[in-house]
Amino acid sequence: MLRAADTIAKTDTGRQRRDNEDSAFARAPVFVVADGMGGAQAGEVASRIAVEAFAQGLPSAGNPEQRLAARVLEANRRIFDVSRSESERAGMGTTLTAALLDGSEVAIAHVGDSRAYLFRDGSLKRLTQDHSLVDELVRRGKLTEEQAAEHPQRSIITRALGPEPEVEVDTWTYPVRAGDVLLLCSDGLTSMVSEEHMEAILSSSKRLQDAAQALINEANAAGGRDNITVVLFRLEDVEAGDGAVDQPTMAGVPAVDASPEGPGRQTSSEATGAPRALPERGGTVSRTERRPPAVAERRWHKPLAALIAVVVVLFLILGGGYLATRQLYFIGTNAQGIVTIYRGLPYELPAGIHLYETFYVSGLPASLVPADRRSAIFSNDLRSQSDASSLVRQLELGKVSS
Ligand code: CA
Repeated sequence: MLRAADTIAKTDTGRQRRDNEDSAFARAPVFVVADGMGGAQAGEVASRIAVEAFAQGLPSAGNPEQRLAARVLEANRRIFDVSRSESERAGMGTTLTAALLDGSEVAIAHVGDSRAYLFRDGSLKRLTQDHSLVDELVRRGKLTEEQAAEHPQRSIITRALGPEPEVEVDTWTYPVRAGDVLLLCSDGLTSMVSEEHMEAILSSSKRLQDAAQALINEANAAGGRDNITVVLFRLEDVEAGDGAVDQPTMAGVPAVDASPEGPGRQTSSEATGAPRALPERGGTVSRTERRPPAVAERRWHKPLAALIAVVVVLFLILGGGYLATRQLYFIGTNAQGIVTIYRGLPYELPAGIHLYETFYVSGLPASLVPADRRSAIFSNDLRSQSDASSLVRQLELGKVSS
């Protein structure tokens, strides 16, 4: 019999966002991270509704996976209802990753691109699979993990709570043992800090709260582009001590891919079985209203390339080249995950100055673009207007096939 001997939930707005749309909940034996999206405070509302569904406790019926999934489905329905009834909340959504410690197992329920990890004997293992466009491409062998980490569309998620009345929830159960540490986090951590680095931080931190703070500090040091949320709990045998911390911890603000190998087994809350691939209806949910298209997804940890880009851009602007940038176009996806042509350069200057504007929104969800063509089409390559328009036209007509 195990218990969570030590728990911590910490969230940080990061260095580039004004608001924190993540929410977290940690009250043994239930732990939750949710990463809201939707802008104008809607994301905060969505993630808060999600964790509040767990704060009321779990239903007693069913096995641990079913008990978690019931709350996820309930949260989905509530968020969906609010987004329908309040126009300013329209389109809001949230990721959700929840864990339930039950005896010598941990059950996990998951939708979106927040993640759960198991830290054991000095090594960190991811327990969840991201429901994201790039992760689908990695699973299909179209992208490597390294390419995915840099991919301009990596924030597009393919499943979330809120956009639809029903949602498919992935659940798993893992055997755990004393000494294990479980980590739930939002993509504000995992998009900024490599798993190797996270592992090193967990290995070198004496206390969980030190580890949580060090992880957040590291994400901020790398740029802090997004809200960062970390929930940690450490397991010990019930007989081993009396240091249990069962205080509720709710944090009201900032969540990404997983390969559940190893001892876990996976089931789905719906009778449909295996996790589905990209939605047929193009139900992608993008966070690009918070991280504008393509551009914002570029990480600046290639300082030289970034510096050159800025210098080139400034030169263009100062040199009257602004007009020239009006002749340049690139293809990306908009906040709704729709293939869009942008005019300008795929960069964003400090202070949120965009060097691009929406030129044409197609009728085509990015998820319907043949998977093996996506990375080429969404590469942010600069094109002429006629080139960009004719490529998107062919996509709309279904003439670009794999
Ligand atoms: Ca996020």
